[in-house]
Amino acid sequence: MPENVVIIGSGPAGWAAAIYTARANLEPLVYEGALTEENRQKGTLPLGQLALTTEVENYPGFPAGDLGAYLDNSIDKSKRQYMGPHSGEGVSGPELMELMRQQAVNFGTRVITDDIVEIDLNKHPFVMKTLSGETVEANSVIIATGASANYLGLESEDKFKNMGVSACAVCDGALPRFRDKPLVVVGGGDSAMEEATFLTKFASKVYIVHRRDEFRASKIMSDRALADEKIEVKWNSEIDEVLGDETSGVTGVRIKSTKDDSQTEEIEATGYFAAIGHTPNTSFLNNQITTNDKGYILWPVSHRTNTNIEGVFAAGDVADDHYKQAITAAGSGCQAALDAERWLVTKGHV
Ligand code: NAP
Repeated sequence: MPENVVIIGSGPAGWAAAIYTARANLEPLVYEGALTEENRQKGTLPLGQLALTTEVENYPGFPAGDLGAYLDNSIDKSKRQYMGPHSGEGVSGPELMELMRQQAVNFGTRVITDDIVEIDLNKHPFVMKTLSGETVEANSVIIATGASANYLGLESEDKFKNMGVSACAVCDGALPRFRDKPLVVVGGGDSAMEEATFLTKFASKVYIVHRRDEFRASKIMSDRALADEKIEVKWNSEIDEVLGDETSGVTGVRIKSTKDDSQTEEIEATGYFAAIGHTPNTSFLNNQITTNDKGYILWPVSHRTNTNIEGVFAAGDVADDHYKQAITAAGSGCQAALDAERWLVTKGHV
């Protein structure tokens, strides 16, 4: 028997879709992603990008306060023990994601810790293959695979991945090689501000290298970074090369001016963090779903989560090149669940 609905992805969109489809008795099956080194490097481990962030100050319903007791009671003890004590600062990304996952499980969602690596949308029921070699069929699919961090694409950047090059300060920032040393963050958006501010906990100094003379980041995040004594901004600058050697890994970066590329400067640093935006995780779809020119899944009908393939819905960052917020992802996950449910009923599948 094919599944009623398979949800691919485990960020806020995936869990919201699971909560709604589970409560509609559709018995959803979530593929939350596989625990692989490749997923770790791409930032696509289970629970998505929010699991890689620190405090979430803008998700409604979680003002600053002590959530500790609630987390102790609501999250399975086997997982709670790895989350550490609650900070008292609203909710953290990992806490929020575990709470969403638990809520989906409480309503009967089944969760498989694996990736969908192939999908055939030419026949119905849709057929999917997992990384571990299983096959699953489903009458409807909700794609909520999110987006992953971009790198600049320099050869020297690739060479030192895991040796000082990272796109996730929260995952790697506390490593010994980054402690009490100068570090570099490239980018001018909220991610760059967040990464730089976070890294000041460990680094002796953090340079933000940005290609323009103003940040794209929100005012509150920019102001926080600019007010931090440990942060120095290199305006109108881009990374020319990540410097280093085989034994030490990253030892610095060479930057050049975006106004006059004959002007270069070398900065000593043991770490380089890319924070230059994201690419939607759609490669497993093998071009079967229509996307926009940036590769984000297109919703052909405004305010509906249907894709160009009947029975396939998309939610969250994979279909959003504009808002990209936890709350908008969760909202569109709810929409996708309602759209999938109505479609399954209309077609007589349930
Ligand atoms: P973003 O807003 O797209 O910013 C990307 C930054 O990288 C921009 O400053 C861009 O420069 C720069 N950049 C892009 N390509 C580059 C290249 N090839 N070379 C040099 N610089 C390059 O991405 P983001 O910061 O990852 O944020 C994505 C979304 O997540 C946003 O909606 C953001 O609000 C949200 N977010 C929110 C929070 C929070 O509220 N706590 C935290 C993180 C992210 P230009 O400005 O010159 O284009």
